[in-house]
Amino acid sequence: MQDEFAAARERLLAEIDSEVRDTARWLGTDRLDPAVRAAMASVPRHAFVPGWEQPYAYENRPLSIGRGQTISQPYIVAAMTQMLRPHPKMRVLEVGTGCGYQSAVLASVVAEVWSVERIAELADTAAERLARLGYANIHVKTADGSLGWPEHAPYDGILVTAAAAAMPQALVDQLGPGGRMAIPIGVGRFEQTLTLVEKDRQGKVSVEPGLPVAFVPLVAG
Ligand code: SAH
Repeated sequence: MQDEFAAARERLLAEIDSEVRDTARWLGTDRLDPAVRAAMASVPRHAFVPGWEQPYAYENRPLSIGRGQTISQPYIVAAMTQMLRPHPKMRVLEVGTGCGYQSAVLASVVAEVWSVERIAELADTAAERLARLGYANIHVKTADGSLGWPEHAPYDGILVTAAAAAMPQALVDQLGPGGRMAIPIGVGRFEQTLTLVEKDRQGKVSVEPGLPVAFVPLVAG
């Protein structure tokens, strides 16, 4: 995408590349999947943040999106997207739509995204924004995402962008065979680990804690 932010976006990608190298031992790889990198290069992050945050849209840090919520740091969005090993046929559930930025990155590399947000105002704004930007393969609803979105299960991937105190069983249940889930687990802002849940073809679940992260809490109800 060519626009006034193109240079800033290129600088951001170079920073993400460097942070991926620095955290290779957590990510299990020292470079971004080319499809994920292309998605990060194409999604206009400035279009997802409030006007006063736009000058900072391509800084590699979280920003405020209102209602006490944040848009994740771009490096984390890239890392979580990659953890799912996305492919063009994949159907993904996202919990915590927020402003819709992570949904847009995901939707650029998979077939279909179902995203659940508990704050109606954020869900409605995100859905409207995503439609306006032309992301036709993202479906947003207002609900408690810790219960998943059972109607469209099973999912090939699940991405949770708020920290759960304990593993939500409904999400594990809605993960299909061979599926992968990335979810921050932990109480308190600085005691969370980005956890990978894998379900094998026989339905056996394995859980592997990884990168230390700081997400807003997953609030039930
Ligand atoms: N992926 C988002 C990040 C948003 S921050 C983005 O790219 O902007 C996390 C979001 O999770 C917040 O919007 C918060 O309201 C939402 N959230 C918290 N608990 C939730 C729950 N139980 N169900 C659905 N959304 C939840």
